[in-house]
Amino acid sequence: MNAKIEKIAKNVLQDNEISYDDARFLMGISGVEIYDILYWANRIRYNSFNNVVSLCSIISARQGSCSEDCRFCSQSSRYNTDISNFPLIEKEKIVEAVEKGKEYKSDCVGVVTSGYSLEGSDNFDKICEDAYELSKQDGPPVHTSIGTITSKMAEKLVSNGVEMINHNLETSEGYYPNICTTHTYKDRVETIETAKDAGLKICSGGIFGVGESVMDRLDLAFKLKELDVDAIPMNFLSPVKGTPLSTENSLEPMEILKIIAVYRFILPDKEIKVAGGREENLRDVQSWMFYAGANSTMIGDYLTTSGKRPEEDLQMIKDLGLKYKVGEMQKH
Ligand code: SF4
Repeated sequence: MNAKIEKIAKNVLQDNEISYDDARFLMGISGVEIYDILYWANRIRYNSFNNVVSLCSIISARQGSCSEDCRFCSQSSRYNTDISNFPLIEKEKIVEAVEKGKEYKSDCVGVVTSGYSLEGSDNFDKICEDAYELSKQDGPPVHTSIGTITSKMAEKLVSNGVEMINHNLETSEGYYPNICTTHTYKDRVETIETAKDAGLKICSGGIFGVGESVMDRLDLAFKLKELDVDAIPMNFLSPVKGTPLSTENSLEPMEILKIIAVYRFILPDKEIKVAGGREENLRDVQSWMFYAGANSTMIGDYLTTSGKRPEEDLQMIKDLGLKYKVGEMQKH
């Protein structure tokens, strides 16, 4: 066992914050000692969450035709990809997604729309109405991921029963211009702060394997810590034909597990959620994500790609001796 990793871990387990230098040391570990980081990340996860893991599902509620240029995204209208574009879906489909989420033991169902913002659009009012109706029913709560929001929008979400929004920072501030040029990092941070001010919980993370450096990964983690977000979705690039990142090399599974583990050291008591790209990138070691410190994952399909069969994920969790939250946050 690497003594320095053990010392850093014990310090975190005693409720001390990890320093940037120590986190950088962990990110620099390679080879067999990555297992030491995983071992301690698992201990830290257990210390914060015991053997309980969370699940969430999402529905693509408006897809494609996006004006923005996020270089990893198949939904940008600037790239020639194979995805289908559609306008805002009807309420029935959202209801169906919530019912499926309930069946899959999801703690929440994220309603996700493409585009920079829904400000001033009827679609925003419709989503609020649907969220309000669903908040009165027995099922996992609806969260939204609808791009940039103003304080007025944030307040309306809260008054319609929405508890949490997703708005990813995607990467570090320094690397961000390599990922998106049509809106700024500052815009993204402002939406998070605006939502927090209105009382919304924040789900914000990023995407890895988009050409960022180790320091960019650390900078993102420390920024999320500074913003005190509640949940951190970690996506791993699955290159999409037609996007500028279509030929990007995938990250190695052990490197991905190490990134998850170091995030657990930096954010010991936050929900770390392994999201898009899990199946393609982690392949046979998907179940290791929990040993690497994640306490949450997505279940069911992603926005534009299929996920693993939910039954298999639920079985995986059971086989690991873990328990899902089974709607602790659900309304009754
Ligand atoms: S990530 Fe969102 S904002 Fe960026 S291109 Fe895709 S849909 Fe548009």
